[in-house]
Order: sequence, then structure tokens, then C-alpha cells
Amino acid sequence: LAASQNDGLTLEELQRIILETPSEESARAHSHYYTSGPHLAGKNLSQALWTRDRWQEAGVKSDIITYDVYINYPVGHRLALLKRRNGTYDTLYDCSLTEDPLEEDPTTNLKDRIPTFHGYSASGNVTAPYVYVNFGTYWDYEDLLARNVSLKGKIALAKYGRNFRGLKVKRAQELGMVGVVMYSDPQEDGQMTELNGHKPYPDGPARNPSSVQRGSTQFLSSLPGDPTTPGYPSKPGVPRTAGNLSIPRIPSLPISYADALPLLRALNGHGPQASSFSKYWQGGGLAHKNVSYNIGPSPSHIQLNLVNEQEYITTPLWNVIGIINGTQKDEVIVLGNHRDAWIAGGAGDPNSGSSALNEVIRSFGVALSRGWKPLRTIVFASWDGEEYGLIGSTEWVEEYLPWLSASAITYLNVDVGARGSHFEAAASPLLNDLLYNVTALVPSPNQTIPDQSVYDVWYDRRIRTMGSGSDFTAFQDFAGIASLDIGFSNGPEDPVYHYHSSYDSFHWMDLYGDQTWQYHTTIAKIWALLAAKLSDSPILPLSAATYAQGLQYYISTVKATAEQTSNTSQLQFSFSALEKNASSLHATAKNFDKYAASLTAELGEHVPWWKFWKSVRLWYKIKKVNTQYKLLERQFLYAKGLDGDRSWFKHVVFAPGRWTGYAGATFPGLVESFEDHDLENVRKWEGIILDCFERANKLLGGN
Ligand code: GLU
Ligand code: CA
Ligand code: ZN
Ligand code: ZN
Repeated sequence: LAASQNDGLTLEELQRIILETPSEESARAHSHYYTSGPHLAGKNLSQALWTRDRWQEAGVKSDIITYDVYINYPVGHRLALLKRRNGTYDTLYDCSLTEDPLEEDPTTNLKDRIPTFHGYSASGNVTAPYVYVNFGTYWDYEDLLARNVSLKGKIALAKYGRNFRGLKVKRAQELGMVGVVMYSDPQEDGQMTELNGHKPYPDGPARNPSSVQRGSTQFLSSLPGDPTTPGYPSKPGVPRTAGNLSIPRIPSLPISYADALPLLRALNGHGPQASSFSKYWQGGGLAHKNVSYNIGPSPSHIQLNLVNEQEYITTPLWNVIGIINGTQKDEVIVLGNHRDAWIAGGAGDPNSGSSALNEVIRSFGVALSRGWKPLRTIVFASWDGEEYGLIGSTEWVEEYLPWLSASAITYLNVDVGARGSHFEAAASPLLNDLLYNVTALVPSPNQTIPDQSVYDVWYDRRIRTMGSGSDFTAFQDFAGIASLDIGFSNGPEDPVYHYHSSYDSFHWMDLYGDQTWQYHTTIAKIWALLAAKLSDSPILPLSAATYAQGLQYYISTVKATAEQTSNTSQLQFSFSALEKNASSLHATAKNFDKYAASLTAELGEHVPWWKFWKSVRLWYKIKKVNTQYKLLERQFLYAKGLDGDRSWFKHVVFAPGRWTGYAGATFPGLVESFEDHDLENVRKWEGIILDCFERANKLLGGN
């Protein structure tokens, strides 16, 4: 290598190490470690310690940070289809509520494997008629109400998909329903279905009929993190909210489609057919199994008995935090992945990301051993409690908020790193250009033409807006830290991914998900390169103009929806002030990026950063520009937060949609005011947004 021990490494040398170090063998071995037994939130201390030790071995100073959080563990459950006869009930069908153990897949056989249940679900024992509610989205329930389907006192039977599961429960509860059952309809499985002639796992790529999607039912568009400590860290002994938590009061259970079949069939002939409602109600992947998808309600003598028994306790969670100190202590890049899983396996979610993170750390360890001195500080996190509600990351951000606000430049999240062949990304637009540049440097595991990069084969090169559902949420939406979330996802032609099911196992990954383990190493390379460029480029590789352009685009979409949902002239609202200010911010941002680029030119492209202290004047200018980039995202925070029960969310531009959860809303305050036909509030949010634009414009030197 060109640089000697004392001279550090150039960014080019660092990049070479990052592209060469990750190994499929090592990624596979780490995956095997994480996925060999249960590691539910608060029950994975041995894995936290092991992770810390691996990071220490690589030369990264690491520690365990503990929080005491309020969560639930499953005690018991029952779901039965009953028929009333002469005042007593006959059981027509008792749901198995378990996933079939498979001989060839060891972790599906474990004695201590984790039962099927919902995180933050309410205990309860209810017997009631039931209604098929499609996906249980807000709009599905609206359609049911419009057709006078009686919901009060009934149990909802919902398909998984479209929105976050907790919001299916939230709306059902608001409408007076008494319980929710969710099942995985093969409709959501793309082309690899039994209907298309594919065998179910383990003999083929289709869904195993007994697979169940566990998952949290917290109301995540209201409050992520520990529901008893909104906005502050769950350190031992802190005061806690007791009543009115943002979690369900009615019980819910997740089931397989095998268990759903008798329930769906019992609705045949009762109430309207779903397909007669609207296009959103068409489909359903079990029509060939004698299901006609009638809505019900079930006749009063056919009822469900839903029993859910949960134990709620306040118990420790363990984040592993590692740090490589840079010379610029007030410029910090954070990388994170969660470690906890709903099942013994978790080879996709989250441990493909955990194993990739270890490859990232190994790569940086090699660089350190060759004398690398990072310009900026890099922090690594292995979060606990993501699955229940982004708990480990949220509590940590809440605890270190002052330091993060002053120092954090970006947060780079990988949750499921590998589960298929489609690269997917969501990001703050500040990071879009960097993401395109970095993916163009990394070879793709699937190439139709030799030497294709991930960028080359990236299907639509769409970078989604940040919604929620993973650990970037507190960084982006609460602290205003530009974040991104990347991973290889499954497309319709890929084997079915058994999300939150016991079949998300090492065996499945080895056989179907990532046979060569190259998607694991590829995501590690992309992740590490992003971090390296952010840490070692003298001028931060961010684009203020792309951010401003994003804002302009979001305004145009809000305008379009506002015109759809309400008549804007009738509302007497004009978007012109927003449009005008966004466009002047764009002009300022373009000039700012140009100025930053001129500093890079002045520095000379290949000057290693540790030499530019020689020019104090230039150094001062660079530091100033980097600080402006760092603080740009922060200008879009509004201290009072969003309206209603969403005041934890402080970002004016990005939030999870109030009824979607995963999918992001842009300018949520404004959009929701339009949805609610509340002109006064529309004006309030216009004012708040204009203030943010003005602050951002000033920050970047505009007038
Ligand atoms: N990734 C988890 C899920 O989708 C997040 C849970 C949450 O945000 O509450 O279930
Ligand atoms: Ca908290
Ligand atoms: Zn996850
Ligand atoms: Zn998950």
C-alpha cells in the first residue's frame, strides 16, 4: 500500500479494503450463529455480548447500553370456530396456531421455539361473529361502513399487507370491534405460489401453508419506542405513563392461511362478496380452495372464540454500541441494524443485516490495522427491541439527543439485508446522489452482462421516502438526522419470503434466499462504502439541491392530492407561497453545492484529508460547509410535532402515514389538514413549513 503506517489511508485505499474484505464464508458463519436459537427482544443477552466481543476483536471500542422497557411475552392463545346449538357451542375447527416443524430445518423443531403472537397485543377472551375486512386498512373499514356492514361487537378477519398491522387493530378498536385475526393470504406472494404449480417450502419456493407472520401491533404512527416513556429514555427508575398507551386494548392473533381456510369458508354465502365492493377488494389467493371471499358477518350462530394471554413486564434490553473515533469529533456517522427476531431463526429479518454489519466492521478493522485514521467519527449499533416498536434505537436517540443534534450527519440503516434479488432503498434526498454513486461501484451478484453493478441492475432506481417500520425512524423523524434504509428485497419472481415466520431460517436462506451468500457481502460493501465516503470525504458528499428538489416534488404531490380530496378553491388556499419559497430554496441550494464543489476542486481531488490542515484558510471554509450540510435536515423540525396523537413526530417533511405506518407521508401536517378539511390548520402548517424553508435558506447562505 502507498500510505505508510503514519500516513493514514487514502479514501481509494480504504475503498479497496471495503470491496475486498467481506467474505461469503464469514457472512454465512455469522448468520448461522445468530439464527441458531430464539433471540427475542430482552432475551438475547448472550448474542449482545458475542456481538460486542466480535467488534472489540476487530478493533472497534464497544459497549452495551441497557434500557428498562415495557413489553409483553406470550402465555397462551386459542382461536376456535364455534357453532351454537341449544345454548351450547360445538367446536367446528380449532386453529393449530403453530407452524409445522420441518425435519430438514432444525430451528423449526426447537422445544423453546417462539409461539405465534403479536407484540403489544392486549390479553382478552372474546366470542363473537366475525367479518372479513380485506386488508383492514382505514379505507377498507370506510367501505364496509358505507355498505352498512355491521362491525360493532364483531371480530375482524384481515389479510396481512398494505398497511402496518397495528393500524388494522387501531381502526378496528375505534369502530367498536372486539378482536382482530390476521392471516397471510397467498395473494401477496407474487408468482411463486402453489396455484402456479410451485411446491411449498421446504420442497419448493412457495409459502408453507402453516407459516404465520408474528409482529408488533403497537400504534407506530403515533409513538415508536417504549410506550410508557414517550420522548425520553427508559432508564431504570424513570417515571412512566400508566394509562392510555399507544397500544391496543382489544386482543389480536396472527394465523396461517391453513388455519384461515375454515374461517373463510364458513363465510361463504354470508353477506356481499368482496369482489362486488371495489377494485381494492378483488383478489384473494384462496379462491381455488373453495373460498368465495364473502364479507359476512358470520350468521349469529357461527362465532369465533379468540383467546389471547400476554404477560406484560418491564425488563432490560441491550443495545451494542461501537465507536471509531475520527479527528472531527463533532461530525458523526451512525450505522445500525437490529439484532432481536420474532423467531429462533431470523436469517432475513434481521440477521442478514447483523451478519453484514459484522462484515462492515471487519473491513474497517482491517483498515484500522493498516493505519486508517478516519476523518469523522463512526458509530455502530446493534439494536435490541426493534420488533416490538423500534425500542432500542428510539430510546438511544432519546437519551443522546443533545449530542446527536450537535454532531450526527447521517444514520445508515440495514434491517433485512438479504432476502431476494431486488435492491431497495429509502432515503432523505440529501443522500440520493451518494447512494447512486456508491451502488455503481459495487458489483451485482446477479449480472446479465459481465461487470454490471448494483446500480446497473437496480430495477427502477426509485428511492422511496422515509416512512417507518425500522430503526431509522427516531433518527429521521424525531432528531432530524438525514437517514437511509437499504437492503436486497424479494421480487415477485423470487422465492416467497416467510416474513416473521419460523421459516425465515438459516436453512431457508441457504437453500432459497441467498444460496451464494453474495447478497450478504454485497449489502455489506454498499453499507461500508457509504460510511467510508461520508467519513473520509473532506467535503461531505451530500446534495442540498437534490433535497430542495425533493421538497418541490413533494409540494406538487400534496397539491395534487389536496385537489383530489377537497376543492382547493373552495378551501381558499393557494400553494403559491410554498412553491415560491421552495423554488428559491432550490436556487440557494444549487449555489451552495456549487460552492462546496469548488472547495473540493481547490483541495485537489486526491489530496488526503490529513494534509489539508496545511491550509488553515481552506480548512475553515470546509468546516463551515460541512456544518451547513450537517444541520440542513435539522431545519425541518417543529418542536411541537404533528397534530393529534402524533406529537412525538417532529419532522415537518417526513413521517409515517397516519393510516399506513410503513409508507411515508410527505408534509404530513399539511396533508392531514387537507384530509380533515380543516382550513385553519392548513394555514397553520403552511406557516410552519414556510418558517422551515426560510431557516434552511438562511443556513445555506440565501437571503
Ligand atoms: N419492523 C417491525 C415490523 O414491521 C417494526 C415494528 C414497529 O415499528 O413497531 O413489524
Ligand atoms: Ca422513551
Ligand atoms: Zn427487522
Ligand atoms: Zn421484523
